[in-house]
Amino acid sequence: MRLEDELAALLGPIGWQTDDMAGYQCDWLKMQAHDPLGVARPKTTQQVAQVVTLANRYGVSITPQGGNTSLCAAAVPETGGQIILSLSRMNTIGDIAGDVDCVTVDAGVVLASLHDAAADQGLIFPIHLGAEGTAQIGGLIATNAGGSHALRYGMMQDLVLGLEVVLPDGQIWNGLRSVLKDNAGYQLRKLFCGAEGTLGIVTRASLRLFPMPKSRATALLVVDDMDALVNAGQFLRRDLGEFISALEFLTEAGLDLALHHLPDLKFPLESRGAAYVLIEVETTSGHVDLPDLLEKALGVAFEEGLLVDGAIAANDAQRATFWRLREEMPEGQRLEGPQIKHDISVPVACIGSFITRMAPRLDAILPGVRINPFGHLGDGNIHYNLSPPIGAAGFGDRKGELSQTIYRAVEEIGGSLAAEHGLGRSKVNHADTLRCPVERMVMRQLKHALDPAVIMNPGVIVHG
Ligand SMILES: Cc1cc2nc3c(=O)[nH]c(=O)nc-3n(C[C@H](O)[C@H](O)[C@H](O)COP(=O)(O)OP(=O)(O)OC[C@H]3O[C@@H](n4cnc5c(N)ncnc54)[C@H](O)[C@@H]3O)c2cc1C
Repeated sequence: MRLEDELAALLGPIGWQTDDMAGYQCDWLKMQAHDPLGVARPKTTQQVAQVVTLANRYGVSITPQGGNTSLCAAAVPETGGQIILSLSRMNTIGDIAGDVDCVTVDAGVVLASLHDAAADQGLIFPIHLGAEGTAQIGGLIATNAGGSHALRYGMMQDLVLGLEVVLPDGQIWNGLRSVLKDNAGYQLRKLFCGAEGTLGIVTRASLRLFPMPKSRATALLVVDDMDALVNAGQFLRRDLGEFISALEFLTEAGLDLALHHLPDLKFPLESRGAAYVLIEVETTSGHVDLPDLLEKALGVAFEEGLLVDGAIAANDAQRATFWRLREEMPEGQRLEGPQIKHDISVPVACIGSFITRMAPRLDAILPGVRINPFGHLGDGNIHYNLSPPIGAAGFGDRKGELSQTIYRAVEEIGGSLAAEHGLGRSKVNHADTLRCPVERMVMRQLKHALDPAVIMNPGVIVHG
């Protein structure tokens, strides 16, 4: 019997798909597209385990797939003939009672659905990102996703209490605990956070929930230069501390692209500057006057010359306008044409000097290259995206050199070449050249300890 016949018999016509696979086989940024053997869409953990066992028997590898929103081609196979295992039919959300702070969900639950289910009980699940209508819990865990609220609530690994995982040999590990403190040995649940489907398939997760904030206040601020950007961010963090739920930034370059390509987007302040800060504060207390708190902090920041303009959102509509500038700005750059994306992080104090120092270095490699840094001012995660010089169709042959120069500079100051999107397939070579050989060796050993037959997502994170 052939593997595809066994899979068809096991999963039935809904669970084993061999036509209409375009949406599964091509990644979000259209970097990779190979013809898979088929798409397995199991309904239960047992079925996932059976698919993995069969794949082992036939020596065919598997790429687990959630919402397929990876920005580094991690969720599509590296060659043809492999199995894509989609978790999309495993999408049950367990009971959420208002008095508990944990929920168990299937890996295929879409993030926005979990937001809605938690909100119905006056709770929140605090990961927010542009792809939340499509990205799934398993994918978010496997990439250790961050997003705009990571400063306050942490990344995905900080929100995972327990996991159920199908291991590369088909065994099921049930580690679905529901406690914050669990030091009974190696932190296995964390091993699968950020493993990008290379060590096993996450099938269920116990996740932390938090009380829904009772009030919030949001401000959009203008700063004059990159030093002021960092200083304003640090001042706000010290002054507003635990109330801050998001501290984001964009620069004039990104704002220009957004306003040019998205005509319904409006800039709501009078002055323009070198960069813009979006700050949001939230509290679950009914006794804190947040707008007043924010206004007082901003008053001091103005007095100290850190800000040149700014406004606190007067209502939900204005808040939405502020957020749209930050969230839709990447779409403005996409509409501009080809781009090279980098998802880096640097120590927070270095954000300004990094941005200022890199510009002439990149210009020396490709004169006129346009740089659009934006992202998470609170944790140093910069989406450092490049557009070609005005009038140029692309980057010519300078793409690799530009990226390598950026990554090298990041490593030199103790940052990371992959802050929240992972390495996927597109950054493995860079990691191999730039990261310390011992670190890369430990990663390879881990991979081979759990997956000696290299069944799970080959080519992602480590080669071979
Ligand atoms: C518009 C947009 C905005 C984004 N913004 C952010 C952001 O702010 N922050 C951020 O961190 N990311 C962001 N991303 C990247 C992406 O959304 C995240 O990486 C997300 O976590 C991927 O989830 P997914 O379900 O789509 O996973 P997929 O893309 O399907 O898979 C991602 C990786 O996880 C593996 N995987 C998927 N499901 C499982 C499973 N059940 N078990 C084991 N491995 C699995 C895949 O094999 C792959 O390696 C953004 C993407 C887009 C398109």
